[in-house]
Amino acid sequence: MTVDADLVIVGSGFFGLTVARRCADDLGLKVLVLERRTHIGGNAYSEAEPQTGIEVHRYGAHLFHTSNERVWDYCNRFTKFTNYVHRVFTTYRGEVYPMPVSLATINQYFRKALTPAQARGLVAEQAAELDTAGASNFEDKAISLIGRPLYEAFFRGYTAKQWQTDPRELPGEIVTRLPVRYTYDNRYFNDTYEGLPVDGYTAWLERLADHPNIEVRLESDFLHDGPLGKAAVVGQVPVVYTGPVDAYFGNAEGELTWRTLDFEQEVLPVGDFQGTPVMNYADEDVPFTRTHEFRHFHPERSYPDDATVVVKEFSRFAGRGDEPYYPVNTPADRQRLLAYRDLARGERGVLFGGRLGTYKYLDMHMAIAAALSMVDNKLVPHFRDGAG
Ligand code: UDP
Repeated sequence: MTVDADLVIVGSGFFGLTVARRCADDLGLKVLVLERRTHIGGNAYSEAEPQTGIEVHRYGAHLFHTSNERVWDYCNRFTKFTNYVHRVFTTYRGEVYPMPVSLATINQYFRKALTPAQARGLVAEQAAELDTAGASNFEDKAISLIGRPLYEAFFRGYTAKQWQTDPRELPGEIVTRLPVRYTYDNRYFNDTYEGLPVDGYTAWLERLADHPNIEVRLESDFLHDGPLGKAAVVGQVPVVYTGPVDAYFGNAEGELTWRTLDFEQEVLPVGDFQGTPVMNYADEDVPFTRTHEFRHFHPERSYPDDATVVVKEFSRFAGRGDEPYYPVNTPADRQRLLAYRDLARGERGVLFGGRLGTYKYLDMHMAIAAALSMVDNKLVPHFRDGAG
């Protein structure tokens, strides 16, 4: 059977849909998007909890933030954003602290009233055990930034639950996702632009896909046989693949390690359960990493005042059949990834992208930026200029 499209995109997350939309808009291509799940949007998908109408991010909380002007402008074509600013608190041994580590966290933890300079001095002393220049793994990087006592309180237990991997095997970049501030500013992100889509993630993603040249086919698994499966499509039509790179190659170079999440959702008969959208739990003996109370992401909406949706998040290694969420990226994974990159380069007519397709811990704005670049650098030259 011939595929009636100029381009096939596997996966309808932000990466796949951004590529689809630009190819339809700018290149006039007919694009077929194949989605394995019953809905679009990948892990950014959200829906209203039926009893309360509260928007729940089905695959864990998604907070949009970027400093990339082009990404921000592009996103604003498809959604307006609220003025939501993300703030997180963490519970450690029965006490609540602001997270990320700021002067407020430091002073509360040490029961002091240090100035910024004094707090810097204290942390520098506590980090002195390390040669900070060489700090590249998670633990060394964290200690170099905040010293051992704060690391042990706020990062060690949480990270043990989130990754179940020796923190010396994890990349330091995971910890530098979080700012450390010697001020009382407790914003979670440093980016210029931040907000949540006013009418929800799914409405945003649907508008992105809403183009006469884009067809999204749900429940279509590219890695299974069939007329729209890999064997039939590759070689016939150019493909952008955004699923897990190891699965594409049948795990030929060994499985990459991924973390998956489990969620326990409850509707509680109270107007406010925790007073904030996200509460982290730093203690290792609390089995979940964090609780989300979704109403607090949209204080501008009129949600019921006698019911709330609370979701506990648990993390574990992904096995066969589990949804991959986080690339673990141990040294062994990085070796395997190099082998997969070689295979990917040799796979004619297929481009790999997105968090799963590149095994990179991409945030939404990074996935969108990477999608815009793939169109500029690969698809425009191929389709418009006839190169490649
Ligand atoms: N982290 C931690 N304690 C916290 C928050 C974060 O130890 O209270 C560590 C943890 O290893 C986590 C990483 O910092 O995986 C990055 O956190 P971030 O909030 O960026 O992760 P995400 O929200 O993307 O899961």
